[in-house]
Amino acid sequence: KTRVYKFGDKKADGNSKMRNLLGGKGANLAEMSSIGIPVPPGFTITTEVCTEYNLLGKDEVIEMIKSEVEESIANIESQMGTSFGDKENPLLVSVRSGARVSMPGMMDTVLNLGMNDEVVVGLAEKTNNETFAWDSYRRFIQMYGGVVLGMKPASKEDIDPFEEIMEHLKEKRGIKLDTEFTIQDLKDLVYDFKNAIKKRTGHIFPTDPWEQLWGAIIAVFNSWNGDRAVYYRNMNGYPADWGTAVNVQAMVYGNMGSNSGTGVCFTRDAGTGENVFNGEYLINAQGEDVVAGVRTPQQITKLGSKRWAELARIEEEDRAENYPSLEELMPVIFDELNTYQDILEKHYRDMQDMEFTIQDGKLWILQTRNGKRTGAAMVKIAMDLVKEGMIDEKEALLLIEPNKLDELLHPVFDASALKRANVIAQGLPASPGAATGKIVFFADEASKYKSSILVRIETSPEDLEGMNIAKGILTARGGMTSHAAVVARGMGKCCVSGAGALKINYKKRTLIVDGHEYHEGDWISLNGSTGNIIEGKVATAEPELNGEFAEVMELSNKYATMKVRTNADNPKDARIARNFGAQGIGLTRTEHMFFEVDRIKAMREMILADTVKERKQALEELLPMQRSDFEGIFEAMEGLSVTIRLLDPPLHEFVPHQLATQKELAEDMHITLQAVKNKVSELEEFNPMLGHRGCRLGNTYPEITEMQTRAIIEAALNLKERGIICKPEIMVPLIGTVKEFEMQENIIRSTADTIFEERNDTVEYLVGTMIEIPRAALMAELIAARADFFSFGTNDLTQMTFGYSRDDSSKFLPIYIEKGILKVDPFEVLDQEGVGQLVKMGTEKGRDVKPNLKVGICGEHGGEPSSVEFCYRTGMDYVSCSPYRVPIARVVSAQAVI
Ligand code: ADP
Ligand code: MG
Ligand code: MG
Repeated sequence: KTRVYKFGDKKADGNSKMRNLLGGKGANLAEMSSIGIPVPPGFTITTEVCTEYNLLGKDEVIEMIKSEVEESIANIESQMGTSFGDKENPLLVSVRSGARVSMPGMMDTVLNLGMNDEVVVGLAEKTNNETFAWDSYRRFIQMYGGVVLGMKPASKEDIDPFEEIMEHLKEKRGIKLDTEFTIQDLKDLVYDFKNAIKKRTGHIFPTDPWEQLWGAIIAVFNSWNGDRAVYYRNMNGYPADWGTAVNVQAMVYGNMGSNSGTGVCFTRDAGTGENVFNGEYLINAQGEDVVAGVRTPQQITKLGSKRWAELARIEEEDRAENYPSLEELMPVIFDELNTYQDILEKHYRDMQDMEFTIQDGKLWILQTRNGKRTGAAMVKIAMDLVKEGMIDEKEALLLIEPNKLDELLHPVFDASALKRANVIAQGLPASPGAATGKIVFFADEASKYKSSILVRIETSPEDLEGMNIAKGILTARGGMTSHAAVVARGMGKCCVSGAGALKINYKKRTLIVDGHEYHEGDWISLNGSTGNIIEGKVATAEPELNGEFAEVMELSNKYATMKVRTNADNPKDARIARNFGAQGIGLTRTEHMFFEVDRIKAMREMILADTVKERKQALEELLPMQRSDFEGIFEAMEGLSVTIRLLDPPLHEFVPHQLATQKELAEDMHITLQAVKNKVSELEEFNPMLGHRGCRLGNTYPEITEMQTRAIIEAALNLKERGIICKPEIMVPLIGTVKEFEMQENIIRSTADTIFEERNDTVEYLVGTMIEIPRAALMAELIAARADFFSFGTNDLTQMTFGYSRDDSSKFLPIYIEKGILKVDPFEVLDQEGVGQLVKMGTEKGRDVKPNLKVGICGEHGGEPSSVEFCYRTGMDYVSCSPYRVPIARVVSAQAVI
């Protein structure tokens, strides 16, 4: 089989469809090459080789690909007219990682590989540019040292050991920028770097280009299992066996002087979705300089440059002279870049994120990918592309990453609170949103406070986990394409970058702005849409959901066949969910209503009652409260079905466990404290989740079911009198035998009949059941013969099928996932293989006897994308999820059809 794929000179062995094998970067380099975009020639070692490496180890894998790699290097040599390791006319290459999905900065890349003490001299002579040659050498040692030889900062307070050496030299020489180093400085740096590597790691820097190349290839494979990459994979649920590809590519040099440079650009705004070409570049720079924020990058377009200058409060004259856009500085190159961005966006039919390098007046494209974007940008771009005729409605729906919609539902700053806010500084609006939290300076301390804002000079891939935990990210350095900005947009996290007025001291853990000192733990707020940094806490408000968000929701409705209901226990949640487009309620838990102060007492009296008569009395008190709850919910869901579940949790959850409250209850009920205590201990169970709960309550205390039925039916009748249509569906929990259901059903129907007679009026209602005990799924035919509907309670069903207690599983599930025994938490993602069989079987058996049996799901899984998709395939009529998951489930439900 082929393990190495070549690209370059308008040809390629691979193409963009082969991302699983070539990684995203490799597949797109191949594709760009074949459609005539100028890409430096190179080759891609497949992701399969990475997997082979993990099994077989270094030596065997090198042996396996050696001849293919040698032949491919020869191919680059002939295209470039240079040769690898040659002293007079050297070929240098980059060795780049690239998994099938983009993981910005998560894995490692080495540039200028092939350098040594002799090659650098040859390169200097050939290009007649000694500064360039030594700058490239210096960079190579730095990257190779870090990536391959393990030169890392000693502790989190320390900076990169190479940076430290450079900072020292800059101080000594009284200069600020890397570009100000003299040739001698660069030579000294190379020398010092090599010594530092030797001292810290014991490695002598390899001089043989082939040794360098294999070292780098293996290091890229290793980076797939590095901490950063592993964390990123887990965060996104990407499996470990995907592996990374390795791309080896001829270097093009952006660091050859003032006619060279490098940059990053986006075909649309990744923060807002606006259709404007934008990006950043640096003259005389290489590789990650722009992203790492070593100098303040300049804007690609004139328009962007003007906007940026406005934010940074830079005068137009100063801007035009010191920070000109690429459009102004190199108009011909800009035009060419502008053409390519247009071609690439149309070719991929999605927003592109591109890397480019200008070598001595010639433009090269080094990467393109579908750009990471915020949730807001995602919906805007999808709908804009439809309006521009680039894609159709179905394709637009597929551009929606359901979970990212969540970002749009988060609170925003309250407009009036913002007016009063004390803005202490401004940075770049790198990723929109509103964030309030306490200052932390280190990523691994982000979880120190419930809400934290990570404040850094700049972020690096090591900070990923902390960035994910923090509510917002603030950096002093770096532009709109900096690491912090790109990662934050991908996470949908608020970020303000490049706020130059901030003086951050890691050692003292302080932030100084305008002479004012802030400490770790102080509150600050970030406005990611304006770049404002605000002192203290700013109040937030609910976001408005209109525009493109509403359009996406409408499109979802147009294509979805399965309905989305919500789980709501009160009118407020019901209204929120309805706003998000819920098409009914799939689960109202009645027990939550009992926990309110004035009700819990009546509930406790009911539980402590010794006789049926006493219990009925207590239930009488509860009746009007329940009835008015139901009226509120029915009204909020006017015209739509509302499923109400009868009392489910063990009674022990309702009784008081503290002495003081026990005393109070005893007094209220005129019984002894001992009597209360006895009852409490009587109700205690060894396995409450398998104990006296669900329909077992209603079957032992039928008067509870009676009262609840009465509350539901009377509420419905009351609304009917007011002209409001409601469709109650009464749901019996936790049945395992059909008898259990029958008994409850009989109580419900006879109670309803009594009320209909009393009121001389009727309403339509259904009586159905939860399927949440494995036995119920097995006996589904019998149960369906009686029940009007099934609702799969996949929380309990998962608990009982796996035999994992949901309340105790946090002790072992994380370890199981780490060890690979389970891929994901089955309480989060429905286990389609196992639990799914019961769901499928239950549905099929039920529909065998009752073809139009209504079937839904009401566990937490009802809002989880892969589980929703499963429910669609199983033929369910609806899923039900918490209000804030409703938009997500709606989109998935539409995507499932497409
Ligand atoms: P990442 O996946 O972290 O973006 P890349 O492999 O894309 O890493 O490379 C890092 C940086 O080096 C990018 O800015 C890229 O454009 C640059 N680069 C990679 N290969 C070359 C090359 N052959 N010539 C010039 N620059 C390169
Ligand atoms: Mg990188
Ligand atoms: Mg890149």
